[in-house]
Amino acid sequence: MAAKTIYDYLVIGAGSGGVASARRAASYGAKVAIVESGRFGGTCVNVGCVPKKIMWTAASFADAIPELRGYGFDVKVNSFDWSTVKKKRDAYIERLNGIYERNLEKEKVESIRGLAKFVDPNTVEVNGVRYESKHILIATGSYAWIPQVPGAQEHGLTSDGFFELDYLPKKVSLVGGGYIAVELAGIFNALGTDTTLFIRHDEFLRDFDPIIGKTVMETYEAAGVKIIKGSALKSVSNNGDNIKKNLSMEFEVGYGDKKTLSSFDGFEEVIFAVGRKAHTEPLNLGVTSIRTDNRDYIIADEWQNTNERNIYAVGDVTGKAMLTPVAIAAGRRLSDRLFGNKPNSKLSYENIPSVIFSHPTAGSCGITENEANKRYGEKNVKIYQSKFVNMHFALTEHKQPTVYKLICAGQEERVVGMHIVGKGSDEILQGFAVAINMGVTKSQMDSTVAIHPTAAEELVTMK
Ligand code: FAD
Ligand code: NDP
Repeated sequence: MAAKTIYDYLVIGAGSGGVASARRAASYGAKVAIVESGRFGGTCVNVGCVPKKIMWTAASFADAIPELRGYGFDVKVNSFDWSTVKKKRDAYIERLNGIYERNLEKEKVESIRGLAKFVDPNTVEVNGVRYESKHILIATGSYAWIPQVPGAQEHGLTSDGFFELDYLPKKVSLVGGGYIAVELAGIFNALGTDTTLFIRHDEFLRDFDPIIGKTVMETYEAAGVKIIKGSALKSVSNNGDNIKKNLSMEFEVGYGDKKTLSSFDGFEEVIFAVGRKAHTEPLNLGVTSIRTDNRDYIIADEWQNTNERNIYAVGDVTGKAMLTPVAIAAGRRLSDRLFGNKPNSKLSYENIPSVIFSHPTAGSCGITENEANKRYGEKNVKIYQSKFVNMHFALTEHKQPTVYKLICAGQEERVVGMHIVGKGSDEILQGFAVAINMGVTKSQMDSTVAIHPTAAEELVTMK
């Protein structure tokens, strides 16, 4: 057995949370190493936020073509070349991989390539070499899965497969009702693909305040996305070959005793976006006392401590608010606490803003109306809501709706939830999230001078 190297901090996983925590620890002078089995940057950089945002941007340009015509431009688009976008996107990501690696080097974080597994609670083995550390962080993230339905694993892709596609399919099917399914459906549809989205219930984005799912769904249906509600997948089969797929899907559609078996044909690709699972299996957690929940997520307390002394977990692997900035913030605060002499440093999981890159975008910060009613009692909750057409669409034929909702609690009407759908919501929410985090009240919002003419001004003038 090769000799042990001893570190202050060994981080497993060079994704959003791991890299942020490792660099912060090293900035305090700790001796740090980071283990990565795949590409630097993890999910967000390689198969998540970054390539997704690039595809969303491409789709937003497609959305803008009819809008340009509304404003008098005689625009003719001859073609859209998916493979060019993919090549440029891959090159952009490769540059980011390099930047991640170099930033770690600059901070003197040692990079170890390979799959890490625990040998005992202080020792991790990678490619047969053992590394001992006083503190160990698990930041191994999550992975996409495909349901165990006949043909689904064989013929279906996950979002990882979406990013490998080197052509724009003419007809796709997406299964799932969360962030990814809705975002990918919007991208395909805007780029001209015949898009069908299969969801298990009547709504999608069900974890959000209902105005978000309802408004996005209405907009999608008006834009041509077919949404098959109450659908449960029974099988997937391929009537073509692996070069030119011709996929059929059988679903049970409906509820209770009104279910019927229906077949949907002619898909070139079937993409599953049904949530993610914790990346814990290779870690050999059995040699530690770390506990996981019934979905395999590592149980970590508010300080990111696991059950095992000196082993911590941040990011997707904990299953809480699976977002890049959350993994980064939790990782940095943990290092501040362990190595930066900031014993009270921890992340608050309240008021985490997030955006769905749908078409139009939607954003949410704080709690939903239902949660507010439960927490404060219905009579102590006041709702302000507004629906209008953004002036951006003044001269366009198709007009997307904008819907804003403020949820206020108590006599002072503290804003405890903000849910917005409409063009620009992705950029509007961040500033308001600061105010909500500081405990802003409705009267303070009202006393802020509006910026005219914008959509966001509606948020400080709601009656
Ligand atoms: P990851 O970034 O997944 O990093 C974990 C790393 O650990 C990986 O590199 C993996 O290879 C490595 N690893 C795993 N096991 C081992 C092991 N045993 N040994 C060594 N290395 C190991 N979030 C947003 O905030 N905004 C978005 O717009 C957004 N869009 C998304 C779009 C998609 C399609 C997806 C899939 C996710 C998106 N997310 C988005 C979520 C975001 O990507 C994740 O929340 C974030 O990447 C989690 O960071 P992490 O550090 O916990 O894990
Ligand atoms: P989500 O957890 O958001 O949604 C998955 C949805 O799939 C569930 O809500 C469920 O919806 C549906 N589902 C679950 N199982 C099945 C099944 N067997 N058959 C059909 N549908 C099923 O997961 P995603 O995969 O969309 O995204 C993973 C995470 O990544 C997100 O939670 C988010 O944290 C992060 N992310 C963030 C983004 C952003 O910030 N913009 C973008 C993309 C991802 P229902 O219960 O309604 O059926």
